[in-house]
Amino acid sequence: MTLPNTDDLNEDLSTQAIHADKDVRGNAVAPPIYATANFAATSEEEFGEMATQPRHERFYTRYGNPTNRQTEVTIAALEGAESALVTGSGMGAISTAVLTLVSQGDHVIGQQHHYGGTTSLLRDVLPRFGVDVTLVDQTDISSFERAIKKSTRLIVLESPSNPLLRLTDLRAVGQLARENNALTLIDNTFATPCNQRPIELGIDLVAHSATKYMGGHSDIIAGVVAGPTKLVEKIWKASLIFGAVLSPFDSWLLLRGLRTLPIRVERHNQTALAIARFLEAHPRVRVVNYPGLESHPQHDLAREQMTGFTGMLSFELDGGAKEADQFIGKLKLPSHAASLGGVESLIVRPAAMLAQQISEAEFQTIGITPGLIRLSVGLENERDLISDLEQALA
Ligand SMILES: *Cc1c(COP(=O)(O)O)cnc(C)c1O
Repeated sequence: MTLPNTDDLNEDLSTQAIHADKDVRGNAVAPPIYATANFAATSEEEFGEMATQPRHERFYTRYGNPTNRQTEVTIAALEGAESALVTGSGMGAISTAVLTLVSQGDHVIGQQHHYGGTTSLLRDVLPRFGVDVTLVDQTDISSFERAIKKSTRLIVLESPSNPLLRLTDLRAVGQLARENNALTLIDNTFATPCNQRPIELGIDLVAHSATKYMGGHSDIIAGVVAGPTKLVEKIWKASLIFGAVLSPFDSWLLLRGLRTLPIRVERHNQTALAIARFLEAHPRVRVVNYPGLESHPQHDLAREQMTGFTGMLSFELDGGAKEADQFIGKLKLPSHAASLGGVESLIVRPAAMLAQQISEAEFQTIGITPGLIRLSVGLENERDLISDLEQALA
């Protein structure tokens, strides 16, 4: 198999990642950090303007901040979105967006597989406010069709999903939503805009845990939501109340991370594919979940809607939780840690990590086995990573 040709897209995004914020950066080559909570007006008139103009970036930092603006302009360019809003975490972005868009009596469709925090928001929080939620099998478009009601207002997606790397047909769900006057929001954290541009496929809003690939260095917690200005402005208004503001310092680190996102993702993709192939061929490995493998049940869809297949994969060894933990304990390079998308490889057993949020019965229904292992493939040398995996499997 050859990877789809991503040269054009990556070149384009590589340039955007470095130059998209030029107009808002002024003549500073590196972005300045506006470490200030507030901005002074020179007249009564100007103060009134600052306080009432939507998304004024020089009034009070919960409303906006020039450093955050540079980051937002860059992410909007990468996602092909009109606007973006950075937030203090990925969950801050997702919960602010969802709580902005739905009201009592509305119906929301989500997936059986989401990041744990999103599952809790959909399953536990929304029903407390009179919002009706249906969680469907993301791999089957007819399950979305069957779930649609007159009151469906929002469809929440994640593709590839955590931790089984299952895909949602984004074009099909986008169309279904438009036909039924519902909005769509996707968590694009695993793919990044370098591998998947959901807005071009007809999705309304894209959210990220920018803590992961976008930041890329495991040194910040940040989030973003991007989409049409009208919707992002609405979410911004709610964010003034919910308050998940990104600190300008962290925004600056995020912007630094974004400069190298396209080149990092290219390497993450390459090394993850090599590791997925190595694992798939190993006699001790029962199954590998990676959209770039021909054996992935949705490989064709992956090739249709993605231009690369991410640095994330999950797999099962022969044996269960005990064997998985022994294997993780023998590894020398990947750290045994939550999170993903950084320069360093990270490994976890999701069933151990999610035990707080998901019951054993639920694990079974959604197909997360106790022995499942999730690997975030970092930027270490491919041969070094494979030899480390090899010695730990021996
Ligand atoms: C980490 C993660 C989140 C949550 O983001 P935070 O920045 O930790 O709040 C949401 N979705 C996915 C897919 C994630 O990996």
